[in-house]
Amino acid sequence: MNDWKTLPKTEIHLHIEGAAPPEFIRTLAKEKNVDLSGVFAADGSYRWADFAEFLCTYEAATSVLQSPEDYRRLTEAVLAESAANGVVYTELFLAADFCGGGDVAAWKEYLAAMIEGADNARAAHGIETRFISTCVRHFGPEEAVKIARLTAETAGPMLTGFGMGGEERHLSAADFAPAFAIAAEAGLGLTSHAGEICGAGSVRDTLDHLKVTRIGHGVRAIEDPALVDRLADENILLEVCPGSNIALSVFSDWPEHSIERLRRAGVPVCVSTDDPPYFHTTMTEEYAHLADTFAWGRADFNAINTAAMNAAFCDEDTRQRMLAKFR
Ligand SMILES: [Zn+2]
Repeated sequence: MNDWKTLPKTEIHLHIEGAAPPEFIRTLAKEKNVDLSGVFAADGSYRWADFAEFLCTYEAATSVLQSPEDYRRLTEAVLAESAANGVVYTELFLAADFCGGGDVAAWKEYLAAMIEGADNARAAHGIETRFISTCVRHFGPEEAVKIARLTAETAGPMLTGFGMGGEERHLSAADFAPAFAIAAEAGLGLTSHAGEICGAGSVRDTLDHLKVTRIGHGVRAIEDPALVDRLADENILLEVCPGSNIALSVFSDWPEHSIERLRRAGVPVCVSTDDPPYFHTTMTEEYAHLADTFAWGRADFNAINTAAMNAAFCDEDTRQRMLAKFR
C-alpha cells in the first residue's frame, strides 16, 4: 500500500463537499455548536447504510459549511488529504448553488476564498489545482443556464471548467444544451456525469448534445460496444471512480468493474475518488485495489495519469510540467 501512496497521481473528479474529511466537519460543527453526532459512526467515519441515508448524512455534514472562510479551510483540508495520497494535480467540482445560492457577488467571494485555499495548498504541499463549476441536474435547465453564465463571468486561470452533477435520471441531456453552449463559448472545458446510474444511452446523449470532452463516470458505456468504439475514436476521457461505483452498487465488486475492459478497448480512462470519505476510500486505496484486481503496475498508472493530464482543463505549461512526472 505504501508504494502506491507515494506514486504521483492526478485526480480530476472530486466534489469538494463530498471530499470533506470527517475530522474537519466535526471541528467546524463544534465551533458552530451544531450537533452532528448522528452523522458519524463509532470509528469517526461518515455513517450511512443505504442511498437515502447517504444523502441525509451528506446534507447534514455539509450544512456546517456556511461561509467563504469555511470553504477556504475546506479547500486546504481536502487538498492536504489529496497531497498525502500522492496527488500532484487535482480538479475540484464546485457548485455555486451551494456557495452563495447562485448569487454572482456571493459566488465571487466563495471562489476567491477557494483560490486562496488552493494557493496555500500549493505553497504547503506542491499540489496543483483547477476548479470546475457544476450545475445540479435536478435543479433544472434554467438554473443550469444561470450557473453557466455565472461561471463564464468568473472564469480564469483557476476556474477552467464547467460540468453537471446531480440526479442522472432527471430530464435528458438535450435540455441542458443551452447551458453547455454558454460555457463552451466562454472557452471552458466541459464534462458531465453520465453512464453511472443510467446506462449507455445517457453517455451517448451527453456526447451528442453537450459536446463534452470528458464524461464523469461513463462506466456503463461498456453495455454498448458501438459506444465503446465511439469513445475510443473520439478520444473521450472517462473520469472513473471505481470505489464510488462499488459502494453505490453500480458494480458488485472490483473484478466486475468495467474499467479494465474499457481500457483494453482503447477508451482513455483515469481514476478518481468522487466523495472519498463517504465511500471509505482514498486514492492510495483505489490504486491498491486496481493493482490487486487487474495486476496494474507503475506503467499502467503512469498511462492513466498521462491520459488524465491530456484531458485536463489547464494551461499548456502546467500540462507539460505534470506530464513530465508520469514519464
Ligand atoms: Zn461525481
